[in-house]
Amino acid sequence: MRTIHELTAAFAKGEASPVGVAEDYLARIGALDDRLGAYLTVTRDDALAAARAAEARYRAKAPLGPLDGAPVALKDVFCTRGVRTTCGSRILERYVPPYDATLVERLKAAGAVILGKTNMDEFAMGSSTEHSAFQLTRNPWDLARVPGGSSGGSAAAVAGGLAAGAFGTDTGGSVRQPAAFCGVVGLKPTYGRISRYGLVAFASSLDHVAPFALDITDTALLLAATAGHDPLDATSVDAPVPDYVAALASGVKGLRVGVPDEYFGAGLDPEIDRAVRAAIDVLRDLGAAIERVSLPTTEYGVATYYVVAPAEASSNLARYDGVKYGLRVPGGKDLIDMVSRTRAAGFGPEVKRRVMLGTYALSAGYYDAYYGQAQKVRTLVRRDFEKAFARVDVLAAPTTPSVAFKHGEKSDPLAMYMNDVYTIPASMTGLPAISVPCGFNGSGLPIGLQLIGRPLDEATLLRVAHAYEQATPWRQRRPELS
Ligand code: GLN
Repeated sequence: MRTIHELTAAFAKGEASPVGVAEDYLARIGALDDRLGAYLTVTRDDALAAARAAEARYRAKAPLGPLDGAPVALKDVFCTRGVRTTCGSRILERYVPPYDATLVERLKAAGAVILGKTNMDEFAMGSSTEHSAFQLTRNPWDLARVPGGSSGGSAAAVAGGLAAGAFGTDTGGSVRQPAAFCGVVGLKPTYGRISRYGLVAFASSLDHVAPFALDITDTALLLAATAGHDPLDATSVDAPVPDYVAALASGVKGLRVGVPDEYFGAGLDPEIDRAVRAAIDVLRDLGAAIERVSLPTTEYGVATYYVVAPAEASSNLARYDGVKYGLRVPGGKDLIDMVSRTRAAGFGPEVKRRVMLGTYALSAGYYDAYYGQAQKVRTLVRRDFEKAFARVDVLAAPTTPSVAFKHGEKSDPLAMYMNDVYTIPASMTGLPAISVPCGFNGSGLPIGLQLIGRPLDEATLLRVAHAYEQATPWRQRRPELS
């Protein structure tokens, strides 16, 4: 399984061709995706056309940059012009956007070859991809298990060698958690770092566009090509984008790494506890100073998120009314009846649960008690991190409390929600956070180390992650699928 930087280096030397590589990936998708279920749509013709264009540029010795010809996959939450964008939902089953998301535009401008659109939990609500209206996605390391979610299709595609890199979205952990479950890298940048324009909205104050990759160098390349201000997204940050790849070489000597007590408590799988502590020892051996820190509000994260996220979702999803987009169920006796039949048929049970929770939390008389209160707690969570970052440069913790679970294992919504306990705080604060493979449990399932950084300091995160990756063998182990 080759990384993007290995592929594009081979393209530049003429040792591999973008068309040949695109054909290989498409063939692998054809051979394996029946079992994996990573893709909802494969854009074969567009991919080959993009690969031919890349090939011509390499032949003319004028590639567009380090992603030219790189085969990537996109979660089916990003609008793609002329290509169905379902968001994992019946309500958008036949929706074909008239425009590309900024992410997609930037990837195309960088020469990336988009292989297709990947499966996801409906409207990105979930942690297992089991809430997709269309299909199950399997974890390449153990087909009986979930790939995580909600960006499970993208994570499974990269882990299974069905794409060299991918993008997902992380609202409460939906890139870091599947990255941990599938043994790949997942980076949630700072809120606003990558434009959300053209992303189907779930919870607007929490939604982040985020890359998956096989290693840290590729992660840095994918971030560099897509980060940066976008006037089309009012929350996009107008700050310079540093040279992330150049930052990787600096190592961790002299950096202070904080270890938050609250991320190692009850409920953490002992094998994950051991692997993450061993990873922290590696960082110490590499010259980082390790310090204990405390983030006392951690225990309120899940409860707070499950007020804020459903509240924003209930508002965002009000647009699916049978008139403006997607599905319409005809035959109602009046407008209200048509809208309610459409939404009843178009949304799955988890989406309905969120819309009901959110509508309740926002309703007159309850707004202050729930949504208002949750926003105040969110401020307290942010202050915890500010205090910690006055003393340390990055935080190191587990990404998830458990390894990938079996399909059907978490039928109780609360059990599923609790899986986000370590990823939600960085989502609510908008802080950049990355999941890096840090070993395997006794059954050969991957474990993720999470690093959380200061606002806009993805460079330090990548630097620490890179030093760790280079010092450990994990990225060499890949699942056997064929
Ligand atoms: N699992 C969380 C949820 O269901 C996070 C989802 C996400 O990050 N999109 O809301």
